Amino acid sequence: MARRRKIYEGKAKVLFEGPEPGTIVQYFKDDATAFNNQKQGVITGKGVLNNRISEFLMMRLSETGIPTHFVRRLNMREQLVKEVEIIPIEVVVRNMAAGSFSERFKMEEGTPLPRSIVEYYYKNDELGDPLVTEEHITAFGWANPPEIDDMLSLSLRINDFLSGLFMGVGLRLVDFKLEYGRLYKDDQVRIVLADEITPDGCRLWDMKTNEKMDKDRFRRDMGSVAEAYQEVARRLGILPELGPRDLRAPLTLHDAAQ
Ligand code: UDP
Repeated sequence: MARRRKIYEGKAKVLFEGPEPGTIVQYFKDDATAFNNQKQGVITGKGVLNNRISEFLMMRLSETGIPTHFVRRLNMREQLVKEVEIIPIEVVVRNMAAGSFSERFKMEEGTPLPRSIVEYYYKNDELGDPLVTEEHITAFGWANPPEIDDMLSLSLRINDFLSGLFMGVGLRLVDFKLEYGRLYKDDQVRIVLADEITPDGCRLWDMKTNEKMDKDRFRRDMGSVAEAYQEVARRLGILPELGPRDLRAPLTLHDAAQ
C-alpha cells in the first residue's frame, strides 16, 4: 500500500490520513519526552506496548458506554481512530498526590486525596501546559460549558472504571491524563475520548511494593522503563507474544502475583 499522508507528528505518535474520510491512523513511536521536551529518549518497544494497552483500555471503556475515537488496531504499531477535533485541554484525574500536585501543595507522593480531583491544563508547549480553570476555558473559547460538563463526568466515570480494572491486576491508578475531541456526525457534534491511555500518561504503582510502573521511571532515570510497560501489559493479559490468548480478560490479582 502507498505510504499514507502524514497529518501531524507529536512526541509519542504520528498521525496519518486514514483509509477512508473521517478516519486517522495513529502510529505509536518508541520516543519519549518529559519536562516539556527538555528530556528526550527512546524506550525500545514502547510504541508496540502502548498501541496494545490503549487498544485494550479503549475497548473496555467503550463496552461500559464511554464514547471513544477508537475503531480498531491495524498492526503492531498502528490503530485506526475516528477523526475528531481535539479540544486543547488535558484533563488530569488524581486519586493520590504525585508529581506536580505534590510540589504545588507540598504533599508527599502517595497521600490519598479526600476525593478524586479533576484538573484542566491548556495544551500549549510554549506556555508549558499551564493549569487553567473553567473560566479560562470558556473565556478563551477552548470548550463551552456543556462540553466541560461532558469531559468532567466522563473523566470521573473513566476513573472509577480504570481504578477498578487496574486494582484487579494489582496496580494503583494514582493519576492520569485524558484528551477529548469533538466528533462531527450528521449535523451533530459530541464529545468523545481521544488520544491514548497508556503508562505514558498514567501513574501506576504496584499495590504491594509501590513500585512505579509508568513514565516516571523515564522522567526520574529509574531504569527498567520498557520492562515496567511490559509488566503492565502482561498483567492486563495483552503481551503481543501471547498470541490467541490476547483476547482473554485481565488476570486476577492472584494470577498477577504468580
Ligand atoms: N501527564 C501527561 N502529559 C502531560 C502532563 C501530565 O500525560 O503533559 C500525566 C502524567 O503522566 C501524570 C498526570 O498527567 O499521570 C499528572 O501529571 P502531573 O501534573 O503531576 O505532571 P508531571 O509531574 O508529570 O510533570
